[in-house]
Amino acid sequence: MEIILIFIAAVIGLMIGSFLNVCIYRIPKRLSVIKPRSLCPKCSNSLKFYDNIPVLSFIILKGKCRNCKDPISFVYPVTELITAFITALMFFKWSSNPFWLVAVLISSYIFIVIAIIDFETMMIADMFSYAIGFVGLSFSFFNPYFSGAPLQKLAQSAIGAFAGAALIWLLAFIGKKIYKKEAVGDGDIFLMAAIGAMLGVEGILSSLIIASLFGSVYGITLMILKKAKRFDHIPFGPFLSLAAIINMYSFIGINTFFFYI
Ligand SMILES: [Zn+2]
Repeated sequence: MEIILIFIAAVIGLMIGSFLNVCIYRIPKRLSVIKPRSLCPKCSNSLKFYDNIPVLSFIILKGKCRNCKDPISFVYPVTELITAFITALMFFKWSSNPFWLVAVLISSYIFIVIAIIDFETMMIADMFSYAIGFVGLSFSFFNPYFSGAPLQKLAQSAIGAFAGAALIWLLAFIGKKIYKKEAVGDGDIFLMAAIGAMLGVEGILSSLIIASLFGSVYGITLMILKKAKRFDHIPFGPFLSLAAIINMYSFIGINTFFFYI
């Protein structure tokens, strides 16, 4: 594939990432994502277009507001870079299946928003999961991971959604019995249903294993750095989102995990 097309996809991804930042910052506060234009949260100075260029403006301004010099969170450029990277990867992988490309891009963007909001607030808004579930069901006919006639593909998506919710609900129930406290948030139940709608039953098992591996590495790292104690709550949404994006790019079957052990 032409490298220039992948580069264009990355640049479009940067701009979309810039919009995702607006969603990440405003939706939890129930603010409009359209008006007003971007402004500094400290001094409310409205950003000029040249201070609102993805990543570049952050570097030029050295991470500070031009007006009040208040630090700008590094999460903004990181979100833009992640979005650009994922857009380019998905375009590279799925441009031959345009409908599925649209589905994985829309859901990847929503997964990014979910992941960063969950990291920052420990909350997952169910409407994001519903949106991914809707994309999964309505694009199931183009899903390369499902097989058979269109209605069979739709059924695999629906069964995946149901199985995802049921599995995490069961884990939450068992966790509550063992640890005597909430081990899984309600938001994770709808998030798993959304992943099931995109990736089917095997996809939820695979995503759960991948998310647990990443989550454990993150938790152990925090403990080593003495930033967290055992049983401190660690958001699971970001790791589930990451696992789902990996599986949407290239499916990791569950026998893979058992084959290497
Ligand atoms: Zn400012």
